[in-house]
Amino acid sequence: MPQPTVSFIGLGLMGRPMGHNLLKAGFPLLVWNRTASRADSLVAAGAGLAASAKEAAAAADVLVTMVSDPPALEQVLWASDEKSGGAFSALKKGAIYIDSSTVSPALACKIAGAAQSAGVRFLDAPVTGGTWGAEKGELLFMIGGEAETLEAARPVLSAMGKKLFHLGPNGAGQTVKLAMNLLLALQVDAFAEALALVTGAGFAGEKLFEVMQSSMARSGVLDVKAPVMLSGDYKPSFPLRLMHKDLGLALDLGNQLGVPLPAAAAAREIYNSVKGTSKGDLDYAAVFQFWKK
Ligand code: NAD
Repeated sequence: MPQPTVSFIGLGLMGRPMGHNLLKAGFPLLVWNRTASRADSLVAAGAGLAASAKEAAAAADVLVTMVSDPPALEQVLWASDEKSGGAFSALKKGAIYIDSSTVSPALACKIAGAAQSAGVRFLDAPVTGGTWGAEKGELLFMIGGEAETLEAARPVLSAMGKKLFHLGPNGAGQTVKLAMNLLLALQVDAFAEALALVTGAGFAGEKLFEVMQSSMARSGVLDVKAPVMLSGDYKPSFPLRLMHKDLGLALDLGNQLGVPLPAAAAAREIYNSVKGTSKGDLDYAAVFQFWKK
């Protein structure tokens, strides 16, 4: 059976390596990005370049979107702009649509409703694993939607990820993703605070890292982010602006559900402060700059 045509919209830090893994797995790939030059390496590797988001969606047996936030996704799916909008209405009946951006569960449910009316099969499938997971094809997908749709999409998802967690109906993937990023944001923020205490007392932060990673306080994310904080090189892997967005989405969800999230609210103020005062696009490990100031 011929491989389904996959279209990919959103070729940022995550989307580009995910696209390369789809090509390596042999899928015919059509790509679109707001800034077309971001597609260069994929086009050189054999992908087709669509002239618009609509054109990419119209050709897709499977469409994947990987854009920054809810307004960006709504723009791509529903804006009337000929070049960068209208992708949703261009989807073929029976096509599978996978959104891997981190957005609100409410937006995932809105898309699911529209998909049902249009005869499109939809999965909310945000990811964790960072840019290195995207490059190695080792992302974890947190998935909401029908089990049958997941089975049909499995070959495409497996080309980009090593684990697919089916968590419930549409919206479940985004809900668990927001909880996951709440955990990561708080761990990195907690280490930054502890580091400020140790370095403020005049001791080397490396010592805290060494003891912590040998203890019950050890953490996978801090294997990666603590050295970034100790070196002060904040080249973005997961940009702070996106973690700030995700904390906001988690707080909105807590608000809708009546679930208090006091630690997330405090952390968001700290990420907010660093976002407001830093120049350039920094990794979220730069939350340590709050204490450095
Ligand atoms: P990025 O900023 O590098 O890329 C964002 C993409 O969105 C770009 O392709 C950009 O062109 C597109 N975009 C933004 N606004 C748009 C608009 N109005 N119309 C059309 N396209 C638009 O971000 P990224 O790191 O690739 O993250 C993408 C998504 O994945 C985000 O939702 C992020 O929260 C999530 N995510 C990122 C990581 C990570 O480690 N970077 C990990 C897990 C999940």
